[in-house]
Order: sequence, then structure tokens, then C-alpha cells
Amino acid sequence: MNKGKKLYEGKAKIIYEGPEKGTGIQHFKDDTTEFNNLKKSTVEGKGVLNNRISEHILNNINQIGIKTHLIKRLNMREQLIKLVEIIPLEFIVRNIATGSLTKRLGIADGTVLSKPLIEYSYKNDELGDPLIAKEHIIEFNWAKESELNLINEYCLRINDFMQGMFRGVGIKLVDFKLEFGRSENNGEEEILLADEISPDTCRLWDVISEKKLDKDRFRKNLGNVVQAYQEVARRLGIIHEDSNISEVKFGKPQVVDLKK
Ligand code: 5GP
Repeated sequence: MNKGKKLYEGKAKIIYEGPEKGTGIQHFKDDTTEFNNLKKSTVEGKGVLNNRISEHILNNINQIGIKTHLIKRLNMREQLIKLVEIIPLEFIVRNIATGSLTKRLGIADGTVLSKPLIEYSYKNDELGDPLIAKEHIIEFNWAKESELNLINEYCLRINDFMQGMFRGVGIKLVDFKLEFGRSENNGEEEILLADEISPDTCRLWDVISEKKLDKDRFRKNLGNVVQAYQEVARRLGIIHEDSNISEVKFGKPQVVDLKK
């Protein structure tokens, strides 16, 4: 499918104009960044996996009655999407305390929350996506109160659905980030889930070992980043048991001491 001009390039994705008015092509890169671009790397195969995982999750969310920007996956790295007016907010949903929540408030890492906690950040790289209150959103017109109420409801439904989906494959959904946008449908404004849902935007821990299967492997230099993303895709049944998306790299040959 022919891509139009580049509309936006982010840390992990590029959006191009799509074939028809109001559509776009979302391209998943292998690049990964942390601390607002201070730490950068390329994780070979990550874009391919995130494309597939996000397609799977957004299609399922659509089936529970929440509209998303995804029209269809086009190929290994690209999706056809509806272009929406992105609401400049990140909606963070937490089930277990970790990450910035524990740093900010001194809560013990791993504390299970009594109910899901929704936090809001203002999407602004220069300011480091600061945490904000609902009052800031209303005061600065980033979203209307009615939109916010609807999005909060969507966040909780998506959390319930995703917690169940991941639990079923032995993964705890610790927290995740969602983005939403506005679109017009027959003259009526509607809210669509946008962006992506993948191990780049969620924290996922193995139920038994608590092994991290998400972007924290990169953030905390734990290694095996693409293998963790592959594990998530395999458990969700998206990729075949023995598929290996990353390039096979052979280490230096080692001398084996047969006497040991
Ligand atoms: P925290 O606030 O603890 O750093 O992140 C909470 C959750 O939201 C994590 O699952 C994290 O991956 C996700 N998240 C928050 N901000 C961003 C962001 O700017 N980009 C991505 N990819 N994920 C984010």
C-alpha cells in the first residue's frame, strides 16, 4: 500500500498519510528510548512483535465495544489506522505499585492496589510528561469533563479485559499507558483508543517467577528484551511456538573442558 507523506515521527513509531482521507499508516520501528531520549537503542524485531501484539489486543478491545483507531494490520511493521485528533494526555492504569509511583510516593514495590488506580500525565516531552490532576485537564481544556468520564470508564473496562487475558497465559498486568483521540462519525464526535498496547506500554510480570516481560528489561538493562516480547506473543498465541523473530547471533566459540 502506498504511503503518503510523513505526518509524525515518535520514539518508536512513524505515522504516514494513508491511502484515503482520514486514514494513516502506523509504522513500528525497532528503536527504543528511555528518560526522554537520553538512553537509546535498537532492539531488532521489536517493531514486528509490537505490531502483532498491539493488533491482537486492539482487535479484542474493539470486540468488547470500545472503538479503536485500528482498521487493519497491513504487513510486518505497518497498520492502517484512522487518523484522530490525539488528546494530549497519557492515561496510566495501575494494578500493582511499581515504577514512578513507588519512586514518587515511597510505596513498597509490588504492593497490590485495592482497586485500579488511574493517573494522568500531560504528553509533553520537553516537560517530561508531568503527572497532572483532573482539574488541570479541565482548566487547560485538554479534554472535557464528559470525555474524561467516558475515557475513565474505558480505562477500567480495558484493564478488566486485559487483566483476564494476561492472567489466562500466566502474566500479571502490573500497569499500562493508554492514549485516546477524537474522531468524527456521521457528524458526531467519538472517542477512539489510539496509539498501541504492547510490552513497550505495559508492565507484564510472569505470575510465578515475577520475571519482567516488558520494556523494563531495556530500562533496567536486564537483557533479552526481544526474547521477552516474543514470550508475550507466544503465550498470547500470536506467534508460533518455535518462531524466532530476532536475528540469530552466535557468540565466540568457547573451549569445552570435557573432564569437568
Ligand atoms: P511509570 O509512570 O511507572 O514510569 O509508567 C507506568 C506505565 O505506563 C508503564 O507500563 C509504562 O510502560 C507506561 N508509560 C508511561 N509513560 C510512557 C511513555 O511515555 N511511553 C511508553 N511507551 N510507556 C509509558
